[in-house]
Amino acid sequence: MTNEFRKLPSVDKLLSQPAVQTLLTQHGTLLVMAAVRAELTINRDEIAQGGLAATVEALIDNLTARLVEAVSPTLQPVINATGVIIHTNLGRALLSERAQRAMQHAASAYSNLEYNLDAGKRGSRYVHAADLLCQLTGAESAVVVNNNAGAVILALTVLAQGHEVVISRSQLVEIGGGFRVPDIMTQSGAKLVEVGTTNRTYVRDYERAINVDTGLLLSVHHSNYQITGFTAEPTLAELAQLSHKTGIPVMEDLGSGTLIDTVPFGLDHEPTIQESIIAGVDIVTASGDKLLGGPQAGLILGKKRFIDQIKQHPLIRALRVDKTTLAALHATLLAYLEQKATQEIPVWQMISTPLEQLVHRAEQWQAQFSAAHLPSHVSLALSDSQSTVGGGSLPGQSMPTKALTITGIAPHKLAAQLRQTTPPIITRIGQDRVLLDPRTVLPTQDQILIDNCKAIIGQG
Ligand SMILES: *Cc1c(COP(=O)(O)O)cnc(C)c1O
Repeated sequence: MTNEFRKLPSVDKLLSQPAVQTLLTQHGTLLVMAAVRAELTINRDEIAQGGLAATVEALIDNLTARLVEAVSPTLQPVINATGVIIHTNLGRALLSERAQRAMQHAASAYSNLEYNLDAGKRGSRYVHAADLLCQLTGAESAVVVNNNAGAVILALTVLAQGHEVVISRSQLVEIGGGFRVPDIMTQSGAKLVEVGTTNRTYVRDYERAINVDTGLLLSVHHSNYQITGFTAEPTLAELAQLSHKTGIPVMEDLGSGTLIDTVPFGLDHEPTIQESIIAGVDIVTASGDKLLGGPQAGLILGKKRFIDQIKQHPLIRALRVDKTTLAALHATLLAYLEQKATQEIPVWQMISTPLEQLVHRAEQWQAQFSAAHLPSHVSLALSDSQSTVGGGSLPGQSMPTKALTITGIAPHKLAAQLRQTTPPIITRIGQDRVLLDPRTVLPTQDQILIDNCKAIIGQG
C-alpha cells in the first residue's frame, strides 16, 4: 500500500509536464495549483482505500477536465424546447440582434451615461430611454429602473408612503418569485385597504373607502391567473374618473405591459401601456423583459409631476439601471418605433411564427432520425400541442404548435437525460410524453438539438 503512495507523482513532477505547463499558461498558477492539489488528494484517498496510484497521464486528463469545469460559466446556454416563450427560469425575453449590439457598444467604451455633452457636466442617466417611451406610449414622462418589482415599490413609496392604498380584493395577487402585492405594499410603508370581493368589485367600493388618509388608488394586472364567471372590476377609465373627482392619484401595475396588440396573433387582448395612458392613469409600471421583449428593467410612465418626484426619491439610487440595459432597451424600443417588432424582437418573432412553419420544422426534426437509429422500444411522432406566452401575461392563452414527441422511455427519466446534454435541452412533459416544441427553439440550435437527442435515445 505504502508503495502505491510512493508511486504517486509529486507536485513538481506534474508541474514540469508540458501539458501542465500549457494549462498554467492558459489558466494561471492559482487555479492549476488548486486543481493539482485536489486531484492528488483524491488519489491519496483512493490509495488509502486500497486503490492504485494514478499515472501521470491519468492525472493530466483529470486536471484538464477539472480546469475546464472551473472556468466554464455557471450561467450556461440551454435549448428551450418547452414552448413557453417568456420563461422566467430560462431568462425571459431573448434580446434582438440590435439590442445585443447596443449592449456591446455600451459595454466597450465610455459613454455619456450621466454626462451632459453640451454643458460639459453631470447629466442624468434617466434621459436615455425616456423620450422613446413617451413617444411610443403618449406618456408625459418616463423613468427606467432595475425591474418592475422595484418600479412598483418605488412608485408606491413615493405616492403612498404613510397613506392608505385602495385596491380590489381580486388583485391581491402573488406573481411568483416572492412578489405578493400585500407584502410589497407593506415594504413601501403604505397601508393596504382592500375593497370589493374576490370576484366582484365596483367603482363605488373604491369611492366608499376613500377618506382623508387615502393616498392612492391601485390597479394590479392579474398576470398569472384568471377570474372567470360572475366577475366585475371597474375599468381604468372609471378609476381615473374617480381620481379626477377626488384628487387621489391612480396607479396601475401592468405587469407584462405590451406595446402592440396581441389580438392579431390569435391571442386574447393583453392591455397595452398606451391604453393605460389614454385611460388617464397617473402612473403605470411594466417589465422590460416580458412582452416588451427587452432587457430586465422596470418601466415607470405617466404624469410628469409624479415621475419628477420618483426621480428625486433616494430609493431610485438603489434601483439604478445599468448602461448596458439602457442601451438594449433603447434599441428594443426603436424596433417598435420603426414598426419592426415582429421581424426583430425574438418574443414577437416566436409569437408570430405561423403554424405551417412550426409543422415544417418539427417534420424536419423527425426526418433526421432514421428509423434504423432508434432502439425498437423508442418511437417518435408529431403531435398537435400548444405553446404559451408565459411571463405572467395572457394566462390560459395558448397558440397551436406541432411538437416532436418521444415515447418508449419514461418521460421524467428522458427529460432528466436531455437536461444533462451540452447544451441542456429543457422539454415539456404532456400526456405522459416528452414534447419538443419548435416555437421556442432557435433555428441555429436545430442541429445540436437533434444530435443531442440522438445520443440520448441511442443510449436508451
Ligand atoms: C411580472 C410582474 C411583476 C414583477 O416584475 P419584474 O420585472 O419581474 O420585477 C410585478 N407585477 C406584475 C403584475 C407582474 O406581472
